[in-house]
Amino acid sequence: MPLAQTPQDGFDLDVAVVIVGAGAAGLTAALAARDGGADVLLLERDENPRGSTSMSQGYACAAGTKFQKERGIDDDADRFYADIMARTKGKADPRIARTVAENSGIAIDWLVEKHDIPFRMNIAWAGFFGHSVNRMHGMPTKTGEELHGALIRAAANAGVDLVTGAHVDLVYADPDGRATGVRVRRSDDTVETIGCKALVLATCGFGANHEMVRNHITSFGEAPYYRYFGHEGNEGEGIQWGVELGGAIGCMDAFQGYGALAEPYGIIVNYETVMHGGFTVNVEGKRFSNEVADISGQALNVLRQPQGTGWIVFDDARRALVEDLPEFRDLASLGAVRSADTPADLAKLMNIPADAFLQTWAEVERLAAGAAQCPFGRDFTGKAPLSGRLHAIRTTGALFHTQGGLMVDEGAQVLRPDGSRLPNLFAGGGTACSISGTGVDGYLPAAGLGTAITLGRLAGISAAQLAKD
Ligand SMILES: Cc1cc2nc3c(=O)[nH]c(=O)nc-3n(C[C@H](O)[C@H](O)[C@H](O)COP(=O)(O)OP(=O)(O)OC[C@H]3O[C@@H](n4cnc5c(N)ncnc54)[C@H](O)[C@@H]3O)c2cc1C
Repeated sequence: MPLAQTPQDGFDLDVAVVIVGAGAAGLTAALAARDGGADVLLLERDENPRGSTSMSQGYACAAGTKFQKERGIDDDADRFYADIMARTKGKADPRIARTVAENSGIAIDWLVEKHDIPFRMNIAWAGFFGHSVNRMHGMPTKTGEELHGALIRAAANAGVDLVTGAHVDLVYADPDGRATGVRVRRSDDTVETIGCKALVLATCGFGANHEMVRNHITSFGEAPYYRYFGHEGNEGEGIQWGVELGGAIGCMDAFQGYGALAEPYGIIVNYETVMHGGFTVNVEGKRFSNEVADISGQALNVLRQPQGTGWIVFDDARRALVEDLPEFRDLASLGAVRSADTPADLAKLMNIPADAFLQTWAEVERLAAGAAQCPFGRDFTGKAPLSGRLHAIRTTGALFHTQGGLMVDEGAQVLRPDGSRLPNLFAGGGTACSISGTGVDGYLPAAGLGTAITLGRLAGISAAQLAKD
């Protein structure tokens, strides 16, 4: 039973602000609520918080940061908003898009300056995929684990009470939709009830809930063998509670896909291998897409190929860009990277028709020389042709993270379908509707963490204010 009436004899414990889910959104909300002077209890179902945040590459997009200004990058909320609307063909919710555009830079600067989160700009980021300027902020190690660890440390320093092994399985509410508390099931199966003045839902999206995916994300109809590669705890509970309390949902068919998940290893292949001149072929040895047009939509492009797989082909120069990353080291040690001195030998190692692959190879050389037009519209000129020792990794398409969720206002407060606010419910990260419009192709790189920390911060500020009032 996900919702219940407030217990008549009260709760085991009362706290001003309860936050459910200790990923980027929940931790950021907790930091902001502590900054606002509230007592905060952060409840996380896993013993060791990981979430999709730890699985990610740790990049967050944000506009108008001090890092951008130092580098002379001309960016602001209007430009970011315009990029969101262009990428989503106007389908992103304008209010949420505007809120994220206006607050993302503030959130990054605040995390860096007030809470020592080691964001920096990724200068090497070559592809913007809809960002008209470089607004990629990431960790020195380029890992979500580093970001997650830094947020957890900051939360401890700020006095956030983080309880792990604490699965929230019930929300208590009054008939007017006011959330009054939650029930927590601990790892040893004991239960506790906790009352609150404000409740922040940061349980991410619903990627691990296959029924919800089936009901909401129709584009997998043509490619039903997708891999879900987000956190297994993201079962959409926060979104469901929000709806049961009377909240509205939006953009439920939107998701972040990725066409470069090593198959069958389930490890990310860093896309710099492709962006800088690598390419992808299917098991017939043929290219099938503009690999750099849409990093998220490439998931469906790959899944639509025979066997739902492709091979990313690159060389030593592109390998050098990524080989120090932990995930690439894992791929190499597991034997996922096939290497050869000639295209013909590489085709043998990929077990694909050599004739077709050699034709593709020759065509890519012509494209790089500007002597032919790519049928998929990719511009290879300006990239050195692949040469020297060659490499290939087999990949498939994956669902990383759902993008639809609860509709929120400028303070990340959850809205009813008529636009009025639920009394004390807030949402951020994958639990809130994102800025990706509909389907797979509205996702701007690093929008997942960008919105998680931006809406998380706003939810924390609003929840602390409400609890104080
Ligand atoms: C492989 C991968 C790479 C990615 N790379 C990037 C990237 O580089 N940049 C980017 O912007 N985005 C990226 N994303 C997306 C990004 O990770 C997410 O958008 C972001 O982590 C969402 O943060 P969150 O706090 O909403 O969710 P999460 O980090 O998933 O946190 C949600 C937490 O809630 C907990 N929880 C769920 N239900 C309950 C419950 N009932 N009770 C208690 N706890 C609960 C979960 O255990 C989890 O710890 C990537 C995603 C994946 C999978």
